[in-house]
Amino acid sequence: MKEPLIYDLGSPGRTGIKMPKPDVPPTEIPSELMRDELDLPEVSEIDVVRHYTHLSSMNHSIDKGFYPLGSCTMKYNPKLNEDMARLPGLAAIHPYQSPETVQGALELMYETQEWLKEIGGFAGVSLQPSAGAQGEFTGILIMRAYHLDRGDTRRTKILIPDSAHGTNPASTAMSGLEVIEIPSDKRGNVDLAALQAQCDDTVVGLMITNPNTLGLFEDQIVQIIGLIHGCGGLVYGDGANLNALMGIVRPGDLGFDVMHYNLHKTFSTPHGGGGPGSGPVGVSELLVPYLPGPIVAVGIAPEPDEDLPQYEPVMPAKSIGRMKTFYGNFGVVVRAYTYMLTNGSDGLRRVSEMAVLNANYIRARLRDTYLVPYDRINMHEFVMEGRLADAPDIHALDISKRLMDYGMHPPTNYFPLIVPEALMIEPTETESKESLDAFCDAMLDIAREAREQPELLLEAPHTTPIGRLDEVQAAKQMVLCCRPIARPDE
Ligand SMILES: *Cc1c(COP(=O)(O)O)cnc(C)c1O
Repeated sequence: MKEPLIYDLGSPGRTGIKMPKPDVPPTEIPSELMRDELDLPEVSEIDVVRHYTHLSSMNHSIDKGFYPLGSCTMKYNPKLNEDMARLPGLAAIHPYQSPETVQGALELMYETQEWLKEIGGFAGVSLQPSAGAQGEFTGILIMRAYHLDRGDTRRTKILIPDSAHGTNPASTAMSGLEVIEIPSDKRGNVDLAALQAQCDDTVVGLMITNPNTLGLFEDQIVQIIGLIHGCGGLVYGDGANLNALMGIVRPGDLGFDVMHYNLHKTFSTPHGGGGPGSGPVGVSELLVPYLPGPIVAVGIAPEPDEDLPQYEPVMPAKSIGRMKTFYGNFGVVVRAYTYMLTNGSDGLRRVSEMAVLNANYIRARLRDTYLVPYDRINMHEFVMEGRLADAPDIHALDISKRLMDYGMHPPTNYFPLIVPEALMIEPTETESKESLDAFCDAMLDIAREAREQPELLLEAPHTTPIGRLDEVQAAKQMVLCCRPIARPDE
């Protein structure tokens, strides 16, 4: 069903709010400041609610259907987190307030730093970066600052496995360093010999995701880290896949020197559509002085009769500076803090156990029908090929589009790049066995349809207001306007 623009709803004079009587004397607004015509929709509250509720479910609605996007950790976001983030004492404070007046907010940040240190096995954490990608950029700046501080100016290379997320080479390139790609071996892990061949005194560090983007644990991670440290480099962990490890393995204990946490993934916060995010970085003892600031430190109040802790923002000694204005994305930190508090340490371990179990369950149900190129016990996600031996015209995209007719969001498509027709599936811990089964049943039905009625897939989706787009045109020639505009040639 089509939905009109909100400008085409309502009627002149209709309104959704009643303003209270002013409690100050009315004043004339100077006429030069008055706008004659403010072209806003005139709609009632119910018009607005129906309009946006309808829009929110037109293609896919996360309140109505499963969304197994790999590498995104799209878990259910508890409503409680939203309530906490909206508490006036947290939502209505201003970053320019002096620290004495926002002790509660600073305490919340301090505790989040402490808990992230504990979960990751790191000596220091900064909440500054506003996403995973910015965390990577931060980590690279920290590693570079460390080397330069020691007078080691020859290092210019960052080693990155070929299964890496695109942000890894992008943030490396942004920092002006050189990306060296390391191939994967037959089991889907880093090829140790190829890595060793690149280890020399020009290596700033290795940037590696564990479990990697194939959903596989790097079982030689200790040797890998040993090789890098052996040539004087540092190891950056892309922590986007921490959902598989909480309470089970601490990256700091494995020897990682820096890692970002994607609070909006592992610790919940709705992040479809690009934000908001939070990508704190954790570092080992060696790198604590370089962390971006401010970070929150705790001291004792100066008054002798008051022994309450006093939280204060401080800049680390050799800080690389600020990565973001003020204190980072505080609202996301509040949600992550709430999530950690409601789960507790046992609960977080259980999150990881269930996330891993759920992903393995799906792989086990689909592996006889779809090709799983690295068919071994996976972690919180796995990658299969979206092509079928007996349906040569069908691609991963067709399977994904058809899944929308089943009311489910497609998995991540065509990533990681090293798997042809990749479909990357991450159910997360928050899905029940019933919804996992519904997804598997749909995928098995689609495989049968692909053989018997391939046009059903090739023409899908059938249930959405707009079917297949020319995706290249849609991206390159985007027309973003709320009403038809007269084109020059019309
Ligand atoms: C999501 C993700 C990133 C980037 O994180 P953002 O918060 O989206 O910037 C990096 N690496 C991997 C493996 C990811 O899944």
